[in-house]
Amino acid sequence: ISSSAQRLSVARFSSLRRASLRAMTSHIVGYPRMGPKRELKFALESFWDGKSSAEELQNVAADLRSSIWKQMAEAGIKYIPSNTFSYYDQVLDTTAMLGAVPARYGWNGNEIGFDTYFSMARGNASVPAMEMTKWFDTNYHFIVPELGPDVNFCYASHKAVDEYKEAKALGIDTVPVLIGPVSYLLLSKPAKGVEKSFSLLSLVDKLLPIYKKVVSELKGAGATWIQFDEPTLVMDLEPHQLHAFTEAYSELESSLSGLNVLIETYFADVPAEAFKTLTSLKGATGFGFDLVRGTRTLELIKGGFPSGKHLFAGVVDGRNIWANDLASSLGTLQTLEGIVGKDKLVISTSCSLLHTAVDLVNETKLDNEIKSWLAFAAQKIVEVNALAKALAGQKDESFFSSNAKAQASKKSSPRVTNEVVQKDTTALKGSDSDHCRATNVIDRLDAQQKHLNLPILPTTTIGSFPQTMDVRRVRREYKAKKISEEDYVKVIKEEIQKVVKLQEELDVDVLVHGEPERNDMVEYFGEQLSGFAFSANGWVQSYGSRCVKPPIIYGDVSRPKAMTVSWSSMAQSMTKRPMKGMLTGPVTILNWSFVRNDQPRHETCYQIALAIKDEVEDLEKAGVTVIQIDEAALREGLPLRKSEQAFYLDWAVHSFRITNCGIKDTTQIHTHMCYSNFNDIIHSIIDMDADVITIENSRSDEKLLSVFREGVKYGAGIGPGVYDIHSPRIPSTEEIADRINKMLQVLESHILWVNPDCGLKTRKYTEVKPALSNMVAAAKLLRTQL
Ligand code: GLN
Ligand code: ZN
Repeated sequence: ISSSAQRLSVARFSSLRRASLRAMTSHIVGYPRMGPKRELKFALESFWDGKSSAEELQNVAADLRSSIWKQMAEAGIKYIPSNTFSYYDQVLDTTAMLGAVPARYGWNGNEIGFDTYFSMARGNASVPAMEMTKWFDTNYHFIVPELGPDVNFCYASHKAVDEYKEAKALGIDTVPVLIGPVSYLLLSKPAKGVEKSFSLLSLVDKLLPIYKKVVSELKGAGATWIQFDEPTLVMDLEPHQLHAFTEAYSELESSLSGLNVLIETYFADVPAEAFKTLTSLKGATGFGFDLVRGTRTLELIKGGFPSGKHLFAGVVDGRNIWANDLASSLGTLQTLEGIVGKDKLVISTSCSLLHTAVDLVNETKLDNEIKSWLAFAAQKIVEVNALAKALAGQKDESFFSSNAKAQASKKSSPRVTNEVVQKDTTALKGSDSDHCRATNVIDRLDAQQKHLNLPILPTTTIGSFPQTMDVRRVRREYKAKKISEEDYVKVIKEEIQKVVKLQEELDVDVLVHGEPERNDMVEYFGEQLSGFAFSANGWVQSYGSRCVKPPIIYGDVSRPKAMTVSWSSMAQSMTKRPMKGMLTGPVTILNWSFVRNDQPRHETCYQIALAIKDEVEDLEKAGVTVIQIDEAALREGLPLRKSEQAFYLDWAVHSFRITNCGIKDTTQIHTHMCYSNFNDIIHSIIDMDADVITIENSRSDEKLLSVFREGVKYGAGIGPGVYDIHSPRIPSTEEIADRINKMLQVLESHILWVNPDCGLKTRKYTEVKPALSNMVAAAKLLRTQL
């Protein structure tokens, strides 16, 4: 890493730091680990591939940590976090700290090393990985701890203390960050085979002794502050769960004495009851709140904040890439200052900066106007500090005025506002139509079947076919303008032809074109819609070494011209079988992008919906009679708190319906979702009113049963994936037939479709051909038995 921060001599920033200590109080909840150019990703993958040593990986990691600490010190941040670095995941780090390694990994009980750590994260030749799940409502995934009554916690990873010391050796006193004991337990799951009555929270007594040891070592190493992340406090918790916080921190109180203790929350406001519990916790010196997503936080604090405690005010958004509106934040902070007092207010980020991009400095493709509207993690640190300085009476006028100018330019820019789109969305909201299709699904399916003539248990796939090196290369070259449009179209056409021919040979009933022209299901549409921008390095960690680069929605969304029609009609012309037109739905485009924060999310979603609606109608006009609108990420956007879920589901489902309410009964609308745990949102799924829904199923048959029963009442087609596309394993015909048979036990045969779990993009043709062949054979076999 050759950042300017690194060139800065230790002596210089120590003196800077001394000056900053007097003047201001600023804090960062956490920082991205991946590095400005994904250095950690490449180091990890090279190590996993056996191409580099553990030491090389450790060196890259140490360089990243030191450059981050120095960067924050140089910016003047007072409370700099440590232990927010991770080789894979911070929850897994906590599992390692606590020695809570599931027995199947055969851990020897010594300090946990890469072997055991990465086996838990990724599995090894003989044992699969631990389960991974979404971190609250972010796109980050953590490794779920598996705990049972006989778990033996022991202090097995000294990472927190080591990293504290490492920073100290660089001359930087940091705030070590630990996942709080209660959130750790609430985020865990009972190990396999554990009795239903087992309560994870009952483990708290066994857990706290380890926390005490860590705290005491940190104290010994010179730490003066410690941060416990307890984000589960923003969830809908039961009284006994809240009580666990009270108990745990009372128990920890004596070990914490002599230390300043920050208890940090994020991602939403803390509900009123939990707020009382939190602010009464023993041993705490300060409390951190999300003032961006936590829209009621200010009210709660006004309603009563304990005197003498520090308030860490998260006003700089850690979940987005927008520059802070400094003037407005300053107003909020002044209000807070009036409540808690000048010396008790600390300016902070709304959550860890893990969820935003790393450094705007590396963006060379974005123009200056758009760049002036943005702040990635490195810039957010500067914003936090600028706010702290301003409050301390050292306002950097030029920084504030250029920020105000950028905010104003964003408000008035013709690139942001599109009158026509505004008019259309206003009309949409004004209309009292709920944008439903005119005919009910049973009659529509009848009308569709008249011309589709599908057999019972029709077979199809989800959209993408394997993306060969050649296809990827051609796409890249075309984008870089190294090959002509003509040559590009020729290659893609050949690829589509190949995919069509293969499906005909396999005897699949409803075909796809294979999506060879798409790099990513959201990016492909974003690039063709107005109102979107793309970064070159705006990566955000999704899990382990995997990162995503969300498009940036900065303005009103419109569709200058058709996006998929030429490819889809080309593909349809190659076969007599029905060819699915393939689109990404508005909610998924929204949820996988960085969304503008100057209007409610649902407004932006409606705008995207109107653009996709035009595309659906153009496809229909071009003679495409089956159109799939993927909503892979619909569930992902579900708010954390139950009280907010109904509103989200309402506009999300409405947006989907807008895309296809205007089409003929004979046009069949499919949707696809990459998950199956929607027992709780089944009514919303039904309200989407698609003709056919394909879903992931291979890992969760039982859970789906209740959903299926609803589906029977509903009458639409359902295609629960008959095999897992995440694995290279080729399922046999018998196995697939068996699976379909199980589905037939709960579903009527006339609504069941046969398809894989998801797109085949990441698989090889050598896997896809036999797997699909077996899938079609299984469907045919069962048809003869019905
Ligand atoms: N149509 C997309 C594909 O097949 C769907 C991908 C997804 O659901 N994630 O790749
Ligand atoms: Zn999927």
